[in-house]
Amino acid sequence: MTIAIIGAGIAGAACAAVLTEQGQQVVVFDKGRRAGGRMSSKRTEHGYLDLGAQYFTARDPAFKTQCQQWLSSGIVTHWYGRLAQVTAEGPQASPDDTLRYIGMPSMQAPVTRLLGNVDVSLGCQIDHIQFDGQHWLLHSNGAFIGRFSKLILAIPQQQAAALLNPVLPSNQTLSKLFELPALLPCWAVNIQVDQPLWPFDGIFFKQDSQLSWAARQGSKPGRCNAGHWLLHFTAEFSQQHLEADGDTIAQHAMQALKRLTDKTVTGQVSHYHRWRFAQQNPDYPIQGAVHLPELALGMAGDWLNGGRVENAWLSGRQLAQSILA
Ligand code: FAD
Ligand code: NAD
Repeated sequence: MTIAIIGAGIAGAACAAVLTEQGQQVVVFDKGRRAGGRMSSKRTEHGYLDLGAQYFTARDPAFKTQCQQWLSSGIVTHWYGRLAQVTAEGPQASPDDTLRYIGMPSMQAPVTRLLGNVDVSLGCQIDHIQFDGQHWLLHSNGAFIGRFSKLILAIPQQQAAALLNPVLPSNQTLSKLFELPALLPCWAVNIQVDQPLWPFDGIFFKQDSQLSWAARQGSKPGRCNAGHWLLHFTAEFSQQHLEADGDTIAQHAMQALKRLTDKTVTGQVSHYHRWRFAQQNPDYPIQGAVHLPELALGMAGDWLNGGRVENAWLSGRQLAQSILA
Protein backbone atom coordinates (compact mmCIF):
# COMPACT_ATOMS: atom_id res chain seq x y z
CA MET A 1 0.00 0.00 0.00
CA THR A 2 0.97 3.58 -0.54
CA ILE A 3 2.80 5.78 1.96
CA ALA A 4 1.25 9.23 2.41
CA ILE A 5 3.53 12.20 3.02
CA ILE A 6 1.92 15.44 4.12
CA GLY A 7 4.18 18.37 3.22
CA ALA A 8 6.10 19.08 0.03
CA GLY A 9 8.81 21.17 1.63
CA ILE A 10 12.42 20.04 1.39
CA ALA A 11 12.02 17.51 4.23
CA GLY A 12 8.98 15.79 2.69
CA ALA A 13 10.56 15.93 -0.76
CA ALA A 14 13.87 14.44 0.42
CA CYS A 15 12.00 11.66 2.23
CA ALA A 16 9.78 10.97 -0.79
CA ALA A 17 12.77 10.87 -3.16
CA VAL A 18 14.62 8.21 -1.12
CA LEU A 19 11.49 6.07 -0.62
CA THR A 20 10.61 6.27 -4.31
CA GLU A 21 14.18 5.41 -5.38
CA GLN A 22 13.88 2.29 -3.22
CA GLY A 23 10.68 1.18 -4.92
CA GLN A 24 8.13 2.35 -2.35
CA GLN A 25 4.84 3.74 -3.54
CA VAL A 26 4.51 7.28 -2.23
CA VAL A 27 2.07 10.14 -2.62
CA VAL A 28 2.85 13.65 -1.32
CA PHE A 29 0.13 16.14 -0.38
CA ASP A 30 0.64 19.87 0.00
CA LYS A 31 -1.82 22.66 0.56
CA GLY A 32 0.29 25.08 -1.50
CA ARG A 33 -0.05 25.72 -5.22
CA ARG A 34 3.63 24.87 -5.59
CA ALA A 35 5.99 22.58 -3.74
CA GLY A 36 8.72 24.24 -1.67
CA GLY A 37 7.14 25.31 1.61
CA ARG A 38 9.38 27.80 3.33
CA MET A 39 11.87 27.55 0.44
CA SER A 40 9.67 29.90 -1.42
CA SER A 41 10.23 32.67 -3.96
CA LYS A 42 7.29 34.74 -5.13
CA ARG A 43 7.03 35.52 -8.83
CA THR A 44 6.67 39.30 -9.28
CA GLU A 45 6.75 41.62 -12.28
CA HIS A 46 10.35 42.51 -11.29
CA GLY A 47 11.60 38.93 -11.00
CA TYR A 48 11.52 36.39 -8.18
CA LEU A 49 11.44 37.55 -4.60
CA ASP A 50 12.80 35.28 -1.85
CA LEU A 51 10.32 35.79 0.98
CA GLY A 52 11.32 32.71 2.99
CA ALA A 53 14.72 31.00 2.99
CA GLN A 54 17.37 33.39 1.66
CA TYR A 55 20.14 30.93 0.88
CA PHE A 56 21.43 27.68 2.26
CA THR A 57 24.76 26.28 3.32
CA ALA A 58 26.09 22.71 3.35
CA ARG A 59 28.12 21.19 6.18
CA ASP A 60 27.14 17.52 6.06
CA PRO A 61 29.08 15.47 3.43
CA ALA A 62 25.88 13.94 1.96
CA PHE A 63 24.25 17.35 1.58
CA LYS A 64 27.46 18.78 0.08
CA THR A 65 27.30 16.03 -2.55
CA GLN A 66 23.63 16.78 -3.17
CA CYS A 67 24.38 20.51 -3.61
CA GLN A 68 27.21 19.67 -6.02
CA GLN A 69 24.76 17.61 -8.12
CA TRP A 70 22.21 20.43 -8.10
CA LEU A 71 24.96 22.87 -9.04
CA SER A 72 26.04 20.72 -11.99
CA SER A 73 22.48 20.56 -13.30
CA GLY A 74 21.77 24.28 -12.81
CA ILE A 75 19.15 23.70 -10.08
CA VAL A 76 21.14 25.89 -7.69
CA THR A 77 23.85 28.48 -8.02
CA HIS A 78 26.21 30.18 -5.62
CA TRP A 79 25.26 33.47 -4.08
CA TYR A 80 28.37 35.58 -3.48
CA GLY A 81 26.63 38.42 -1.66
CA ARG A 82 28.79 41.09 -0.04
CA LEU A 83 28.01 40.47 3.63
CA ALA A 84 27.99 42.87 6.53
CA GLN A 85 26.97 42.93 10.13
CA VAL A 86 25.36 45.76 12.00
CA THR A 87 26.29 46.11 15.65
CA ALA A 88 26.10 49.04 18.06
CA GLU A 89 29.10 50.45 16.13
CA GLY A 90 27.12 50.48 12.89
CA PRO A 91 27.53 48.48 9.67
CA GLN A 92 30.83 46.75 8.99
CA ALA A 93 31.84 44.54 6.08
CA SER A 94 31.96 40.94 7.26
CA PRO A 95 33.17 38.75 4.42
CA ASP A 96 33.67 35.02 4.95
CA ASP A 97 34.48 31.97 2.84
CA THR A 98 31.21 30.06 3.43
CA LEU A 99 29.66 28.74 0.21
CA ARG A 100 26.03 29.83 -0.02
CA TYR A 101 23.49 28.37 -2.44
CA ILE A 102 20.23 29.64 -3.88
CA GLY A 103 17.67 27.75 -5.99
CA MET A 104 17.49 28.61 -9.69
CA PRO A 105 15.45 30.23 -11.06
CA SER A 106 13.67 30.32 -7.69
CA MET A 107 14.27 28.90 -4.24
CA GLN A 108 11.79 26.06 -4.83
CA ALA A 109 13.90 24.49 -7.61
CA PRO A 110 15.72 21.84 -5.52
CA VAL A 111 12.41 20.72 -3.98
CA THR A 112 10.78 20.44 -7.40
CA ARG A 113 13.77 18.40 -8.60
CA LEU A 114 13.56 16.00 -5.64
CA LEU A 115 9.88 15.42 -6.43
CA GLY A 116 10.56 14.79 -10.13
CA ASN A 117 9.55 11.09 -9.99
CA VAL A 118 7.03 11.35 -7.17
CA ASP A 119 3.25 11.49 -7.26
CA VAL A 120 2.41 14.93 -5.80
CA SER A 121 -1.02 16.35 -5.07
CA LEU A 122 -0.85 20.15 -4.72
CA GLY A 123 -3.56 22.48 -3.45
CA CYS A 124 -4.67 19.68 -1.10
CA GLN A 125 -4.79 20.59 2.58
CA ILE A 126 -5.15 17.53 4.80
CA ASP A 127 -7.41 18.77 7.58
CA HIS A 128 -8.50 15.55 9.25
CA ILE A 129 -6.76 12.20 9.80
CA GLN A 130 -7.84 8.91 11.39
CA PHE A 131 -5.92 5.83 12.50
CA ASP A 132 -7.74 2.46 12.44
CA GLY A 133 -4.95 0.66 14.28
CA GLN A 134 -3.14 -0.29 11.07
CA HIS A 135 -3.86 2.28 8.40
CA TRP A 136 -4.17 6.04 8.13
CA LEU A 137 -7.23 7.59 6.54
CA LEU A 138 -6.83 11.11 5.16
CA HIS A 139 -9.47 13.75 4.52
CA SER A 140 -9.36 17.11 2.81
CA ASN A 141 -12.10 19.70 2.80
CA GLY A 142 -14.72 17.15 3.91
CA ALA A 143 -13.72 14.59 1.26
CA PHE A 144 -12.08 11.21 1.89
CA ILE A 145 -8.68 11.13 0.15
CA GLY A 146 -7.52 7.59 0.79
CA ARG A 147 -6.22 4.88 3.11
CA PHE A 148 -2.46 4.52 3.53
CA SER A 149 -0.07 1.99 5.03
CA LYS A 150 2.04 4.69 6.64
CA LEU A 151 1.70 8.40 7.35
CA ILE A 152 4.60 10.81 7.26
CA LEU A 153 4.11 14.32 8.56
CA ALA A 154 6.71 16.64 7.04
CA ILE A 155 5.04 19.81 8.26
CA PRO A 156 5.89 22.31 11.01
CA GLN A 157 5.53 21.03 14.57
CA GLN A 158 2.49 23.10 15.48
CA GLN A 159 0.62 21.95 12.35
CA ALA A 160 1.55 18.32 13.03
CA ALA A 161 0.23 18.70 16.58
CA ALA A 162 -3.08 20.12 15.33
CA LEU A 163 -3.59 17.05 13.12
CA LEU A 164 -2.36 14.39 15.58
CA ASN A 165 -3.63 15.61 18.96
CA PRO A 166 -7.32 14.78 18.33
CA VAL A 167 -6.36 11.30 17.03
CA LEU A 168 -3.80 10.25 19.66
CA PRO A 169 -4.58 12.51 22.64
CA SER A 170 -2.80 10.44 25.29
CA ASN A 171 0.33 9.38 23.42
CA GLN A 172 3.28 10.23 25.68
CA THR A 173 5.90 10.44 22.92
CA LEU A 174 3.82 12.89 20.94
CA SER A 175 2.88 14.98 23.99
CA LYS A 176 6.56 15.35 24.80
CA LEU A 177 7.41 16.35 21.22
CA PHE A 178 4.70 19.01 21.23
CA GLU A 179 5.33 20.39 24.74
CA LEU A 180 7.66 23.24 23.76
CA PRO A 181 7.12 25.29 20.56
CA ALA A 182 9.86 24.27 18.13
CA LEU A 183 9.33 27.03 15.59
CA LEU A 184 9.09 30.77 16.17
CA PRO A 185 7.51 33.31 13.81
CA CYS A 186 9.09 35.76 11.37
CA TRP A 187 7.59 38.74 9.57
CA ALA A 188 9.12 39.29 6.12
CA VAL A 189 8.78 42.60 4.26
CA ASN A 190 10.06 43.61 0.84
CA ILE A 191 10.71 47.31 0.25
CA GLN A 192 11.43 48.89 -3.11
CA VAL A 193 13.57 51.90 -2.19
CA ASP A 194 14.42 54.91 -4.31
CA GLN A 195 18.01 55.34 -3.07
CA PRO A 196 21.00 53.07 -2.28
CA LEU A 197 20.87 51.96 1.37
CA TRP A 198 24.09 50.13 2.11
CA PRO A 199 27.05 49.10 -0.10
CA PHE A 200 26.30 45.45 0.83
CA ASP A 201 24.03 42.62 -0.34
CA GLY A 202 23.25 40.77 2.87
CA ILE A 203 23.24 42.23 6.37
CA PHE A 204 23.10 40.38 9.68
CA PHE A 205 21.68 42.64 12.40
CA LYS A 206 23.32 41.35 15.53
CA GLN A 207 21.64 43.33 18.30
CA ASP A 208 18.72 45.12 16.74
CA SER A 209 15.41 44.89 18.59
CA GLN A 210 13.48 44.69 15.31
CA LEU A 211 15.43 43.48 12.30
CA SER A 212 17.51 40.32 11.98
CA TRP A 213 18.38 40.33 8.26
CA ALA A 214 18.28 42.46 5.10
CA ALA A 215 19.10 41.28 1.59
CA ARG A 216 19.41 43.17 -1.67
CA GLN A 217 17.40 40.95 -3.98
CA GLY A 218 19.18 42.31 -7.06
CA SER A 219 22.41 40.67 -5.87
CA LYS A 220 20.87 37.25 -6.59
CA PRO A 221 20.57 35.97 -10.15
CA GLY A 222 16.98 36.09 -11.47
CA ARG A 223 15.62 37.96 -8.50
CA CYS A 224 14.02 41.43 -8.29
CA ASN A 225 16.19 44.33 -9.42
CA ALA A 226 18.55 46.44 -7.36
CA GLY A 227 16.21 48.62 -5.30
CA HIS A 228 14.42 45.69 -3.64
CA TRP A 229 15.44 44.99 -0.05
CA LEU A 230 13.96 42.01 1.75
CA LEU A 231 13.82 42.41 5.51
CA HIS A 232 13.28 39.82 8.21
CA PHE A 233 12.14 40.84 11.67
CA THR A 234 13.47 39.09 14.77
CA ALA A 235 11.52 36.23 16.34
CA GLU A 236 10.80 38.36 19.42
CA PHE A 237 9.42 41.29 17.43
CA SER A 238 7.47 38.94 15.14
CA GLN A 239 5.94 37.17 18.14
CA GLN A 240 4.93 40.47 19.76
CA HIS A 241 3.38 41.72 16.49
CA LEU A 242 2.10 38.39 15.22
CA GLU A 243 -1.51 39.51 14.77
CA ALA A 244 -0.67 43.03 13.51
CA ASP A 245 -1.81 43.83 9.99
CA GLY A 246 0.67 43.94 7.14
CA ASP A 247 0.42 47.73 6.74
CA THR A 248 1.49 48.27 10.34
CA ILE A 249 4.47 45.97 9.85
CA ALA A 250 5.30 47.83 6.63
CA GLN A 251 5.44 51.10 8.59
CA HIS A 252 7.73 49.49 11.18
CA ALA A 253 9.97 48.33 8.33
CA MET A 254 10.25 51.82 6.80
CA GLN A 255 10.99 53.34 10.21
CA ALA A 256 13.60 50.68 10.96
CA LEU A 257 15.38 51.44 7.67
CA LYS A 258 15.43 55.16 8.41
CA ARG A 259 16.78 54.51 11.90
CA LEU A 260 19.43 52.03 10.78
CA THR A 261 20.68 53.93 7.73
CA ASP A 262 20.32 57.39 9.23
CA LYS A 263 18.91 58.46 5.86
CA THR A 264 15.64 59.77 4.56
CA VAL A 265 14.40 56.60 2.97
CA THR A 266 11.68 56.81 0.38
CA GLY A 267 10.05 53.92 -1.36
CA GLN A 268 7.22 51.50 -0.99
CA VAL A 269 6.55 48.15 0.57
CA SER A 270 5.75 45.73 -2.25
CA HIS A 271 5.14 42.49 -0.33
CA TYR A 272 4.94 41.18 3.18
CA HIS A 273 4.42 37.75 4.64
CA ARG A 274 3.69 36.54 8.14
CA TRP A 275 5.50 33.24 8.71
CA ARG A 276 3.89 31.79 11.80
CA PHE A 277 6.30 28.84 12.00
CA ALA A 278 9.59 30.06 10.64
CA GLN A 279 12.73 29.64 12.67
CA GLN A 280 14.05 27.24 15.23
CA ASN A 281 13.47 27.84 18.91
CA PRO A 282 17.07 27.44 20.20
CA ASP A 283 15.70 25.73 23.34
CA TYR A 284 14.05 22.91 21.37
CA PRO A 285 16.12 19.69 21.45
CA ILE A 286 17.50 18.21 18.23
CA GLN A 287 16.27 14.68 17.48
CA GLY A 288 16.72 14.21 13.73
CA ALA A 289 13.44 12.60 12.76
CA VAL A 290 10.73 10.58 14.53
CA HIS A 291 9.68 7.07 13.48
CA LEU A 292 6.96 5.25 15.44
CA PRO A 293 6.51 1.90 13.61
CA GLU A 294 3.77 0.78 16.03
CA LEU A 295 1.66 3.73 14.87
CA ALA A 296 2.75 3.49 11.21
CA LEU A 297 3.79 7.09 11.68
CA GLY A 298 6.83 9.20 10.92
CA MET A 299 7.70 12.85 11.29
CA ALA A 300 10.43 14.87 9.62
CA GLY A 301 11.22 18.53 9.23
CA ASP A 302 13.64 21.25 10.16
CA TRP A 303 11.95 21.62 13.56
CA LEU A 304 13.21 18.18 14.64
CA ASN A 305 16.74 18.80 13.46
CA GLY A 306 17.90 22.32 14.35
CA GLY A 307 16.21 24.44 11.65
CA ARG A 308 17.79 25.35 8.27
CA VAL A 309 17.32 23.90 4.81
CA GLU A 310 20.18 21.43 5.16
CA ASN A 311 18.81 20.03 8.42
CA ALA A 312 15.32 19.64 6.95
CA TRP A 313 16.79 17.65 4.01
CA LEU A 314 18.80 15.50 6.44
CA SER A 315 15.72 14.90 8.59
CA GLY A 316 13.65 13.74 5.60
CA ARG A 317 16.39 11.35 4.48
CA GLN A 318 16.93 10.02 7.98
CA LEU A 319 13.24 9.17 8.28
CA ALA A 320 13.18 7.43 4.89
CA GLN A 321 16.22 5.36 5.84
CA SER A 322 14.66 4.41 9.15
CA ILE A 323 11.46 3.30 7.39
CA LEU A 324 13.41 1.26 4.83
CA ALA A 325 15.50 -0.38 7.56
P1 FAD B 1 8.28 23.45 5.15
O1 FAD B 1 9.13 24.07 4.12
O2 FAD B 1 7.50 24.34 6.05
O3 FAD B 1 7.29 22.43 4.41
C1 FAD B 1 6.08 22.00 4.97
C2 FAD B 1 5.02 21.92 3.89
O4 FAD B 1 3.84 21.35 4.46
C3 FAD B 1 4.59 23.27 3.33
O5 FAD B 1 4.78 23.28 1.93
C4 FAD B 1 3.12 23.41 3.72
O6 FAD B 1 2.35 24.03 2.71
C5 FAD B 1 2.71 21.95 3.89
N1 FAD B 1 1.60 21.72 4.82
C6 FAD B 1 1.51 22.07 6.13
N2 FAD B 1 0.37 21.60 6.67
C7 FAD B 1 -0.27 20.92 5.69
C8 FAD B 1 -1.51 20.20 5.63
N3 FAD B 1 -2.30 20.05 6.70
N4 FAD B 1 -1.88 19.63 4.44
C9 FAD B 1 -1.09 19.77 3.33
N5 FAD B 1 0.09 20.44 3.34
C10 FAD B 1 0.50 20.99 4.51
N6 FAD B 1 16.90 28.19 6.16
C11 FAD B 1 18.15 28.29 5.68
O7 FAD B 1 18.87 27.28 5.62
N7 FAD B 1 18.63 29.50 5.24
C12 FAD B 1 17.90 30.63 5.29
O8 FAD B 1 18.34 31.69 4.85
C13 FAD B 1 16.59 30.56 5.83
N8 FAD B 1 15.84 31.67 5.95
C14 FAD B 1 14.53 31.54 6.31
C15 FAD B 1 13.73 32.68 6.35
C16 FAD B 1 12.38 32.57 6.65
C17 FAD B 1 11.52 33.79 6.68
C18 FAD B 1 11.82 31.31 6.89
C19 FAD B 1 10.35 31.18 7.15
C20 FAD B 1 12.62 30.18 6.91
C21 FAD B 1 13.99 30.29 6.64
N9 FAD B 1 14.83 29.20 6.65
C22 FAD B 1 16.11 29.30 6.22
C23 FAD B 1 14.35 27.91 7.13
C24 FAD B 1 14.05 26.96 5.97
O9 FAD B 1 13.22 27.61 5.04
C25 FAD B 1 13.39 25.73 6.55
O10 FAD B 1 14.26 25.14 7.51
C26 FAD B 1 13.04 24.65 5.55
O11 FAD B 1 12.60 25.18 4.33
C27 FAD B 1 11.95 23.79 6.20
O12 FAD B 1 11.58 22.73 5.35
P2 FAD B 1 10.48 21.68 5.83
O13 FAD B 1 10.28 20.75 4.71
O14 FAD B 1 10.87 21.12 7.15
O15 FAD B 1 9.15 22.51 6.10
P1 NAD C 1 25.22 31.01 7.80
O1 NAD C 1 26.35 30.12 8.19
O2 NAD C 1 25.43 32.00 6.72
O3 NAD C 1 24.72 31.84 9.07
C1 NAD C 1 24.59 31.37 10.40
C2 NAD C 1 24.70 32.55 11.35
O4 NAD C 1 26.08 32.92 11.46
C3 NAD C 1 23.99 33.82 10.88
O5 NAD C 1 22.66 33.91 11.36
C4 NAD C 1 24.86 34.92 11.44
O6 NAD C 1 24.49 35.23 12.76
C5 NAD C 1 26.24 34.32 11.46
N1 NAD C 1 27.03 34.68 10.27
C6 NAD C 1 27.27 33.91 9.18
N2 NAD C 1 28.06 34.55 8.30
C7 NAD C 1 28.33 35.76 8.84
C8 NAD C 1 29.09 36.87 8.41
N3 NAD C 1 29.74 36.86 7.23
N4 NAD C 1 29.16 37.95 9.20
C9 NAD C 1 28.54 37.98 10.39
N5 NAD C 1 27.79 36.95 10.85
C10 NAD C 1 27.69 35.85 10.10
O7 NAD C 1 23.96 30.15 7.37
P2 NAD C 1 23.24 28.89 7.99
O8 NAD C 1 23.88 28.40 9.24
O9 NAD C 1 23.03 27.96 6.90
O10 NAD C 1 21.87 29.52 8.47
C11 NAD C 1 20.97 30.03 7.57
C12 NAD C 1 20.53 31.42 7.87
O11 NAD C 1 19.13 31.38 7.83
C13 NAD C 1 20.89 32.01 9.20
O12 NAD C 1 21.25 33.34 9.01
C14 NAD C 1 19.60 31.95 9.98
O13 NAD C 1 19.48 32.99 10.93
C15 NAD C 1 18.60 32.15 8.86
N6 NAD C 1 17.26 31.65 9.16
C16 NAD C 1 16.29 32.58 9.28
C17 NAD C 1 15.01 32.18 9.57
C18 NAD C 1 13.93 33.20 9.71
O14 NAD C 1 12.80 32.83 9.98
N7 NAD C 1 14.23 34.47 9.55
C19 NAD C 1 14.70 30.82 9.71
C20 NAD C 1 15.72 29.89 9.56
C21 NAD C 1 17.02 30.32 9.27
